[in-house]
Amino acid sequence: MGEKYAIHWLEPVVQEILARNQEPIVISAGKTTSGHVHMGFMREIIIGDAIRRILQSKGKDVIFRIFLDTYDAAKRFPPYIDKSYANKYVGRPFARIPSPFNDIKANSYAEYFGKELINAFPDFGVEIQVIWTHKLYQQADMQEQIRIGLEKANLVKEIVLSHLTHAMTKEEKEERYKMYEHWMPAMVVCESCGRTQIKNTKGEISPNRVIQYNKEKDTVSYNCPACEYAGEVLISSGLVKLNWRLDWPAKWALDPKNLFECSGKDHFTKITGSWDVATDLCIKIYNYIGPVGLGFEWMRLGDTDMGTSKGIVFMPKTYYSMAEPELLRMLVLTTNPSRHISFRIEELALLYDEYERIERIYYEIEEPFDLDKKVGEFKTRIEKDLIRDLEIQITREINIEIQKEVDPLQRENITKNKKNLIKERIKKQSHFDIHPKLEKKMAEYVKTEEKERERVKREVKFLYPLIYTKRLKKRCPPQIPLKFLVNMVQLREFISFDEIMKKAQLTQRQKQISAVISKSYLRKRLQQTSRWLDYIKTLIEKTEDPTEKVRLESKVDLFEVPKILTPEILKLIDSEQRRSLKVFSEWLLSVEEVNEETLKVSMIQIRESTGISVQKLFQVIYLILIGRTTGPRLGPFMSLMDLNWIRHRFSIFRNE
Ligand SMILES: [Zn+2]
Repeated sequence: MGEKYAIHWLEPVVQEILARNQEPIVISAGKTTSGHVHMGFMREIIIGDAIRRILQSKGKDVIFRIFLDTYDAAKRFPPYIDKSYANKYVGRPFARIPSPFNDIKANSYAEYFGKELINAFPDFGVEIQVIWTHKLYQQADMQEQIRIGLEKANLVKEIVLSHLTHAMTKEEKEERYKMYEHWMPAMVVCESCGRTQIKNTKGEISPNRVIQYNKEKDTVSYNCPACEYAGEVLISSGLVKLNWRLDWPAKWALDPKNLFECSGKDHFTKITGSWDVATDLCIKIYNYIGPVGLGFEWMRLGDTDMGTSKGIVFMPKTYYSMAEPELLRMLVLTTNPSRHISFRIEELALLYDEYERIERIYYEIEEPFDLDKKVGEFKTRIEKDLIRDLEIQITREINIEIQKEVDPLQRENITKNKKNLIKERIKKQSHFDIHPKLEKKMAEYVKTEEKERERVKREVKFLYPLIYTKRLKKRCPPQIPLKFLVNMVQLREFISFDEIMKKAQLTQRQKQISAVISKSYLRKRLQQTSRWLDYIKTLIEKTEDPTEKVRLESKVDLFEVPKILTPEILKLIDSEQRRSLKVFSEWLLSVEEVNEETLKVSMIQIRESTGISVQKLFQVIYLILIGRTTGPRLGPFMSLMDLNWIRHRFSIFRNE
């Protein structure tokens, strides 16, 4: 924590929205339902939802809605869709293509992927209204937007072209204008073949564009490039759809009007970018100023882009199956939108640490930092600096004194004694007392740090309610450290659920948290951790680069407890170790608990009685427990295990 929380970037956005003085405040998001939606999309949703929360906390009437662009035509299909789909359905609107899978009840391809996405929202604490665009286009208000667009078709074209050709040469401009000769801002779903567009063998797309708008009859005519059917349909048929350039501002201008939207920064290129084009169209065609906009950089998974076309599917629900949604909200809301987010699933431990710390600061269980410690460190540092400065100054003054008092010819041979006398005299002068200076600097430092501490607290008070996904609690919710869960998952077979529960309660009590951990919460966290460990294991297996493999392995304590002590394991134990294990196994019977302290005492005793080195002893204990000679820190690790199981495990050495 630190600089990144200085005046939160959400605040000026909120101020800009409030300055519009419009209610209800409508925040919008949008997504085409072309396939699985990647986790990166959550950046848009989380920012929108945070703004919804801030405005609602100010007593405003807020609607957060997502337009699922289900009426867009399928240009291509992702690799996980059956190849037969490409031939049969390419060019059709997603809402008119059958669902490819049946694990979610859905009437169409669009509905399948739309539902898959929106089903994840409640888990992330997102409250949102869903607008299915194919249904919207059946509505009178959206059809009215089509009529306005078609009536002003020439102006629409002129506006679009003026933006797109902004930086072009005269020749390029002419060419572009020629390309747009028959351009119309709407297209038709063909009554005969059901397509809105066709892709030729060169990959060029020809939309089934409106040829003519007949205002009296309220119809449009078309000539389908896919099947060559020539037809004429009523606007009210619901078969007419606006081109995406006009579709965006038309939706903004629907009542209630859209007041805020954030989107990928690539839309926000000045003049030629689609945001500026849409805003211009919104003003000139629909007579509405358009929403406040915010562009953000992409969120990446490790070093890979989460673009929908790359075929890497890491969905919001994939994330949620492994980790708490708060971490992702925190990551998005503590990162300036102008910066990339590289989400690394292997870094969960770091994210949990930061999140839980924010939570403890919010509930005033922990201070943002230890002020006394910081002040102490500052004092040591500054004292050293002051003394060094002083020494330099004294040396300088000694030289001046020598020049004044000693004959030039004698200066080379000045005695140490004489020099010391001068030094003592100089040091007595009042301006060589560092204490007033030190005290002043300390007072300033304390003041600054106290201010900083208050600032961080204020930021946390602002951020935490935007991060937490459920209704805010009066007291700090349970915190079960990830490290603990990682060990528990791997020890699951050897320890009962009740025992894990007891230890979990104990672990969080050490952090001054007294919340009761519910069974379902513990179960959920164990499940998430288990899936996360499986994912990391797969990641390690798949990684070919040895350095990367080591890096991944260092992120999590992976181990496996052998069910029985095999002859291969027992073979590795020498007679000195066996003698020591006999003492150790007897010691286990005599204690109530194995923890850092009791283990330390026992290790020293065994070393003294058997002469074994502590390192060798540690190695053999790891070997008996997890089948290898190193592992997680032994004291805390053993304290998590069931003592009876440990006793049993070592019992075979008692009869040595
Ligand atoms: Zn057709």
